[in-house]
Amino acid sequence: MSEAMQQREGYFCHPEESSICHPERSDEGSPDVKGILRCAQDDSGCRLCPRMCGVDRTAGQTGFCGCTDQVRIARAALHFYEEPCISGTRGAGTVFFTGCTLRCVYCQNAQISRRPVGRAVSVPELAEIFLDLQEQGAHNIDLVTPTQFSPQIASAVELAREKKLVIPIVYNTSGYERPEVLEALADTVDVWMPDFKYWKSETAAALSAAPDYPEAAKAALAEMVRQQPKLIYDEDGLLQKGVLVRILVLPGHVKEAVSILRYLAETYEDRILISLMSQYTPMPRMASHPLLSRKLTKREYERVLDEACRLELSNVFIQEGDAAKDSFIPPFEE
Ligand code: SF4
Repeated sequence: MSEAMQQREGYFCHPEESSICHPERSDEGSPDVKGILRCAQDDSGCRLCPRMCGVDRTAGQTGFCGCTDQVRIARAALHFYEEPCISGTRGAGTVFFTGCTLRCVYCQNAQISRRPVGRAVSVPELAEIFLDLQEQGAHNIDLVTPTQFSPQIASAVELAREKKLVIPIVYNTSGYERPEVLEALADTVDVWMPDFKYWKSETAAALSAAPDYPEAAKAALAEMVRQQPKLIYDEDGLLQKGVLVRILVLPGHVKEAVSILRYLAETYEDRILISLMSQYTPMPRMASHPLLSRKLTKREYERVLDEACRLELSNVFIQEGDAAKDSFIPPFEE
């Protein structure tokens, strides 16, 4: 195992720190909110994600994500369970949005991803939440499942920056995104943090009703890396700019995780960070599923780690010990 994959303190291992440098925030101007809104809601309805539902969310209709255009959040708090370059010592300023464009059958956060729960907030209120998290010491604003509200989030970030929000914006997404929408968010987002969930279309269809997921995730990731081609850290090792891709290794799906890992290594080499996650926790509703009713075994996870070593990847986070605990699911507002 490479030095970078040796375990260090904390829940995840830390990657090499050789690329640490100090970013300058450029005068990038306002995000192209109008461009995003054109994607989000034109005459043909909502097309914010690859589902392209075409519903009129401004009139209270809902598509696959289950959300109108009313932003709802289930939790906004300091969060210490992301990778060390995101959580640091003071925590990520994590905002969990309700609803989801993917809705995986095994979702750990189903209580907020499948129902329009949570607190309704306006754009100015969301901006104040970001500023409050910064005031509490958050290293960044960590937007969890933001896609269905990306236009409102872009407006809130713009408003908060006018009021001195200076910490990075982290876009923590399933990876099921439209490149056109990501392009419109270029001035909003500093760190892209997508999952790469499935290699096979059949698996994506069976587990997330999204047979186009693998191709969509590849195209989305290409746009993310185009925008943030370098990993930039502050003096404490906190990621300020860049792309961190998460692979949640599912029980019985090791070959797919290995295929994704090979693709990332061949396509992006060490320009991105990769997080290999072993924390899959079977929810009670998965009890009769042939593959997903159990945790990942140590042997399955080690097969993926061995491949990362074989590929000589240096920018990799791994999880140590028993990471599969439902106690890591935070308390949500319903
Ligand atoms: S954001 Fe929601 S309504 Fe819009 S296309 Fe995606 S799933 Fe459909």
